[in-house]
Amino acid sequence: MNTSVTSIKLVLLGEAAVGKSSIVLRFVSNDFSENKEPTIGAAFLTQRVNMGDHTIKFEIWDTAGQERFASLAPMYYRNAQAALVVYDITKPQSFIKARHWVKELHEQASKGIVIALVGNKLDLIEGGAERKVAREEAEKLATEEGLLFFETSAKTGDNVNEVFLGIGQKIPLKK
Ligand code: GDP
Repeated sequence: MNTSVTSIKLVLLGEAAVGKSSIVLRFVSNDFSENKEPTIGAAFLTQRVNMGDHTIKFEIWDTAGQERFASLAPMYYRNAQAALVVYDITKPQSFIKARHWVKELHEQASKGIVIALVGNKLDLIEGGAERKVAREEAEKLATEEGLLFFETSAKTGDNVNEVFLGIGQKIPLKK
């Protein structure tokens, strides 16, 4: 019987328009929209993932577009057990921003937080656009900082579930 459910708070961080809301939409609804309106107001969604012998209920907090106007308040990621730090692999500036978020999380968030570095919009490269963030560079950051690392496409769904499964596997179970 699959009875044990572990709830975890997961937050999204990253520059505006890298695809944070789109990754959540793909994961929660298996859907995508080309001309998505920026997220305004609170965005909170939940999704359960069956991990075999237990279930993880992700309580997902999106930034509600705050990163467009100001820096995010530490209370947004305080108490989070997991974070996705997202950048766009065609936008070098978004990777610089991702480095900044990783540093901030290590300084300010809970000690055991599981962080996944996520390079999104992989489909653009497959469609012929120029990659601007080398996979090796991101892997190096992930290794140095103890992060999970994935390249995804919210558009095609490529690797999106794997991000959440990867996080789920690193979350300690409540006994
Ligand atoms: P957020 O501001 O980080 O939440 O970014 P959004 O999820 O609002 O996405 C910003 C824009 O990028 C939207 O027009 C999306 O349709 C588009 N987008 C998001 N993810 C992808 C992706 O994986 N591939 C492509 N080609 N476009 C994407």
